[in-house]
Amino acid sequence: MGVFGGTFDPIHFGHLRTAFEMLQALRFDEVRFMPCGNPPHRGEPFADAELRLAMVLAATEGQAGFVVDDRELLRDGPSYSVDTLSALRSEFPLRPLALIIGMDAFLNLTKWHQWREILQLAHIVVAHRPGWRAPDMGPLGTLLADRGTHRIGDLHQARSGHIYIHDVTQLEISSTEIRELIAAGRDPRFLMPDAVRAVIEKSGCYRKPDTAEIQ
Ligand code: ATP
Repeated sequence: MGVFGGTFDPIHFGHLRTAFEMLQALRFDEVRFMPCGNPPHRGEPFADAELRLAMVLAATEGQAGFVVDDRELLRDGPSYSVDTLSALRSEFPLRPLALIIGMDAFLNLTKWHQWREILQLAHIVVAHRPGWRAPDMGPLGTLLADRGTHRIGDLHQARSGHIYIHDVTQLEISSTEIRELIAAGRDPRFLMPDAVRAVIEKSGCYRKPDTAEIQ
């Protein structure tokens, strides 16, 4: 099972294509989208939890293998990946778990709460993201040398412990840019599914109070 955490503020094709390519290429039985409630590494999300969940549900609806899990949104306090993975591990004691993160997130791994525990609970699968390179020195360089694998089979044979870097189609889309675009009164069409765009349009979120309609 791939576990794809994120703020998803909003979810976009960079997330969805990455998840889909991993689902297929890494032969995951499912990719579980896990919107985070209160991200410990960044400021408050712009859209509230309910809206971000609605966007993730709209984006993934009808796609076989895509599952949405709202447990982090229901939990009070910071959303630590290690807690989420512990809960999943208790629920699925025998299933391999793989935390999916972009290279930008992986480069910050050592700042995560109990980051070393994460590999005891799950594999980490890293998606290449435009503009970011894999670390070759420091604690993450060492970790990659120790735990990195190029064999997809390792992700299925062991339940946790490997790091796999996967080349996905590079889509230079970010939630930040989408929010800025909408705030400037422009249309995020073709950066995200229309169903997500519809949720954004209806709620009016990300829009500056003085912009009447997106163009
Ligand atoms: P923001 O611009 O607000 O920081 P984001 O676009 O990076 O948002 P997040 O919800 O923070 O989106 O990302 C969740 C996960 O998806 C992270 O691990 C991130 O690295 C990864 N990710 C985001 N955008 C892409 C992309 N275009 N290609 C591959 N991975 C991505």
